[in-house]
Amino acid sequence: MIFFILYIFLSLCFFIKEKLSQINKIKTTTNILNVNLISVGNTGILNFCHYKRSNLMENFDYIIIGAGSAGCVLANRLSENPNNKILLIEAGGKDSYPWIHIPVGYYKTMHNPKTDWCYKTEPDKTMENRSIPYPRGKTLGGSSSINGLLYIRGQEQDYDIWRQLGNKGWSWNDVLPYFLKAENQERGPSEFHGIGGPLSVSDQRIKLSILDAFMNAAEEIGIPKVNDFNRGNNHGCGYFQVTEKNGLRCSAAVGYLNPIKNRKNLEIKTRCHVEKINFENKKAVSVSCWKDGQSFTIKANKEIILSAGSIGSPQILQTSGIGEAKKLNNLEIDIVKNSIGVGKNLQDHLMFRPVYKVKNIQTLNKKINSLIGKLMIGMEYVFFRSGPMTMGASQLCGFAKSDSSRETPNLQFHVQPISTDKLGGSNLHNFAAFTPTVANIRPTSKGEVNITSKDSRINPKIKMNYLSSDEDRRVAAAGLKLIRKIVLESNEFKKYEPEEFRPGISIQNDEELVRAASNYAQTIFHPVGTCKMGNDESSVVSDELKVHGVKNLRVIDASVMPNITSGNTNAPTIMIAEKGADMILNN
Ligand SMILES: Cc1cc2nc3c(=O)[nH]c(=O)nc-3n(C[C@H](O)[C@H](O)[C@H](O)COP(=O)(O)OP(=O)(O)OC[C@H]3O[C@@H](n4cnc5c(N)ncnc54)[C@H](O)[C@@H]3O)c2cc1C
Repeated sequence: MIFFILYIFLSLCFFIKEKLSQINKIKTTTNILNVNLISVGNTGILNFCHYKRSNLMENFDYIIIGAGSAGCVLANRLSENPNNKILLIEAGGKDSYPWIHIPVGYYKTMHNPKTDWCYKTEPDKTMENRSIPYPRGKTLGGSSSINGLLYIRGQEQDYDIWRQLGNKGWSWNDVLPYFLKAENQERGPSEFHGIGGPLSVSDQRIKLSILDAFMNAAEEIGIPKVNDFNRGNNHGCGYFQVTEKNGLRCSAAVGYLNPIKNRKNLEIKTRCHVEKINFENKKAVSVSCWKDGQSFTIKANKEIILSAGSIGSPQILQTSGIGEAKKLNNLEIDIVKNSIGVGKNLQDHLMFRPVYKVKNIQTLNKKINSLIGKLMIGMEYVFFRSGPMTMGASQLCGFAKSDSSRETPNLQFHVQPISTDKLGGSNLHNFAAFTPTVANIRPTSKGEVNITSKDSRINPKIKMNYLSSDEDRRVAAAGLKLIRKIVLESNEFKKYEPEEFRPGISIQNDEELVRAASNYAQTIFHPVGTCKMGNDESSVVSDELKVHGVKNLRVIDASVMPNITSGNTNAPTIMIAEKGADMILNN
């Protein structure tokens, strides 16, 4: 109820502000269409005229499948040249649902069929047979419209390994210029940061003593404080930066699509579900889709670009006849190319969520659980655009090594000043507690995505195989013990009398610890690698992101990563799309 009132109140405020701003603009008659002056004008909120369907073009040079993080970048960059006619196809709707744009709104957009595909993973024996919800964005902006807004590029070494695997042009030095090109860094330009790009990156508008305490405690045990994780070497602990502008989400749709959506050479079709790509003599020539219950086919003169994400892209390749021939034959799909790697090599970050009770220091549980607290949080957001409503999925970040033999960090902490039994699915605890999560960011367990039907409207099977390697179980135990050391053994935390609420300090044996913690573990939503780039038999695309064995088809999204980056995956995906667009334009 309180969220509903807050929602109405916020919507009203945005509406009045927008209208006042519009009246002001009409008065000054400078440029009625200059939406940049409206602080929320660059979002989809209350603007139901966004992305009108036009019937101007029937003939396209490039068709982009999926308007997610990568698809929006491609639509923007490829349509910069007015001679290129572009079609962008998205299965989800417009991004006009207000909770998309309010940062903390991911609690409303995740698990919500309006904006989420609402996948579920197959049960994993190694995770106590749990099947977990597996959100993926289904709206303009894709997963960048429902994600946790955390801006992390990964480590220099991640990309140098991609290069070492034989992928020319993908070392850290090669990709850094594309991170800068994409970026509009609030702190200003530097060797490692860009300004003027479409993706706004800002400091968080919240600071809390419990987070500062964690930072101090981490420093005590040798994890230094840092204030920039995006210079290639990220060992340390500090506040995350987020993809926000003025306290509002900067999704790929907000940053890349909204400013250019009226270009005459760009058509955006929403609620249009791609069935398959069609080939003539192994050349991709058209895309078949469903819209408004009707099936139709659209031709591409130059290239088709698959940007449907790490679940959608292998699914569409498989329904189109590119995949493991044996499996596709069983589903009576005509084989275009036997490509054994399609859907394989699925990698993700699994997050363990220990909970610590504390005294003599505030966490946000109490405030968020009380009516007055909620109202104050709402007011702070409306009047100052700061506070908990601007929060990304986590506030404090840390990178550390699970043991000293590692060359670079292989653990990431996401510290949250709240605690709950089920993220996004249950109330916050009614006691003061916080959640210093830990994840192995270089996992060795691999899963796969497989279709079970030639109809792409039926969800594919997502098998993660989390924790299926001994190495991953060892690193998980070491990570949980490192968190214990920071919270329970540091001088900093002594005054807060910390108590391990979950998994429970009585569990000391490594294997038992991992088993107990895996009951509450969940994805950090970073699936990658299912159409991996490379030259070996199991690679799906080349280092130019062209699908092996066919013509005029590229995959450009998170699925092409050969190895998962050691951090959050939105910024790397946007970088991949910036570089992919450059390759297409310079072809
Ligand atoms: C809940 C959540 C939280 C996350 N938090 C963070 C974070 O804080 N920081 C971070 O860096 N990363 C985060 N991520 C991950 C990050 O957002 C993704 O790695 C990134 O957005 C992937 O981009 P993509 O272009 O590969 O896929 P997506 O952005 O998922 O885009 C794929 C698009 O294709 C469309 N599509 C799929 N199939 C079809 C079809 N058949 N027909 C038509 N369209 C189709 C989808 O609807 C979607 O819009 C999070 C992800 C989620 C889901």
